[in-house]
Amino acid sequence: NCLASALRAASLGRDDAPFATDASTGQITTYSALWTQVEAMAGALVALGVAPGDRVAMQVEKSIPGLACYLGTVLAGAIHLPLNTGYPAAEVSYFLTDAAPRVFICDPAKLDTMSPVALDAGVSHVLTLDADGAGTLSDAAATATPLTQAVARGADDLAAFLYTSGTTGRSKGAMLTHGNLTSNADTLRDLWQFTDTDVLIHALPVFHTHGLFVAINVTLMAGGAIILHRSFDAAAVLADFPRATSLMGVPTFYTRLLDQPGLTKDACAGMRLFVSGSAPMLLDTHLKWQDRTGHTVLERYGMTETCMNTSNPYDGQRKPGTVGLPLPGVELRLAEADGSPTPKGAPGGIEVRGPNLFKGYWQMPEKTAADMRADGWFITGDIGQIDDDGYVSIVGRSKDLIISGGYNIYPKEIEALIDDIDGVVESAAFGVPDADFGESVAVAIVLERGATLTPDAIKQAIAPQLARYKHPRQVHILDALPRNTMGKVQKNQLRDTFAA
Ligand code: ATP
Ligand code: MG
Repeated sequence: NCLASALRAASLGRDDAPFATDASTGQITTYSALWTQVEAMAGALVALGVAPGDRVAMQVEKSIPGLACYLGTVLAGAIHLPLNTGYPAAEVSYFLTDAAPRVFICDPAKLDTMSPVALDAGVSHVLTLDADGAGTLSDAAATATPLTQAVARGADDLAAFLYTSGTTGRSKGAMLTHGNLTSNADTLRDLWQFTDTDVLIHALPVFHTHGLFVAINVTLMAGGAIILHRSFDAAAVLADFPRATSLMGVPTFYTRLLDQPGLTKDACAGMRLFVSGSAPMLLDTHLKWQDRTGHTVLERYGMTETCMNTSNPYDGQRKPGTVGLPLPGVELRLAEADGSPTPKGAPGGIEVRGPNLFKGYWQMPEKTAADMRADGWFITGDIGQIDDDGYVSIVGRSKDLIISGGYNIYPKEIEALIDDIDGVVESAAFGVPDADFGESVAVAIVLERGATLTPDAIKQAIAPQLARYKHPRQVHILDALPRNTMGKVQKNQLRDTFAA
């Protein structure tokens, strides 16, 4: 149940096997080299007085030493707290003040700006680590007594604070336990059949649940290997297909790869699995991917607070446009705001229960209480539908639900119709204030290059298929939809921009 011990046990006998190849340098880190680094980092943290319950925050470039620091923190029994590398000092200040870590590790290039911010937030030690592993943390690790035994932790003890992506508002700190992370990694390894012969192309950020707790933990639990890309570059990722077996990505990875002429069935010959999540994948992308590669992308659904909830099957039918079935051990239901069951086939609030559920939002007991029912169901804030085979589709977030004249409008219904029009790449439907109806529908649309569709033509095309109250009152043609680092469309930004 202790994450560090479980990951360690999974790599037993794999000492000389590669854990990671750095795509930019070609440098290979074996499992024994990884754990030597982890023990040294853990030793350095313990020497600074880090104890169970302490947070160790880091905002560092993606690298093997950075991952060793994550594992070292957990080995030392402390709580890992990664921060988005894109956050400027003002944002870092918020997170450090909120989470009150004992240690903060940052890039040496940012030390001058971040140090005062960290000290103001009450952090006792500020250390540095750059993308190549140099910095005061590594210096300390070099002379510290390595910590060879994991500090014992139980399933219910905290292993990480992960802040949500901030798509719908200010990021919330989700408290994740050892039990959450080990159970989810075990489940996904088995479900997706990861073994020690797998090589995963890793191009996701490691400050988010997808890149860290799905991609890294699953690989470690299987004793497999990663090819570490510091960021996503479609050509570089495609060039690694012959050396790899699998890829995990957000939908934008797949749309960018589809722009590569070299993406062919031959190029994918050695690949066994393509996973997508964190944001909805367009049906069109699914179909194009099948056509070009012969593979069906396996789409899954999860969130920071719950790790992964559902997945399309590995062996059974993968249904594009759905996020699949609840994971083994995870219960999922649709319910109304008052907790009563949603009528069969209708859209309702997705609630989940299981060993994957976090312990609550850090220092937000009211929010935790509001989202967690007394009998253990967590209200995800997503709205879903379940088909006759039990496959779940996400139709929107409850915060993005448009309520017009008292009627609920699910953005996905409008988006699906617009996305179907020739010349449209993608769309986002959102609510804007309306004096008569409370809210009315607005849509932002991205057109294919060269397409000449006008807002009126789009309105006319969908009108016959939609009840009048769902007709968009505003149609905006944009070059791109506003997205955050995880490729999620930021509807709050659209609402702010277009609120008449
Ligand atoms: P915040 O909670 O701060 O507003 P966020 O919800 O985007 O941000 P995350 O925890 O990173 O932060 O994202 C989880 C959300 O991502 C889910 O609640 C869901 O809305 C969305 N999501 C994840 N996977 C999928 C998927 N395959 N299809 C559609 N939506 C998905
Ligand atoms: Mg969320």
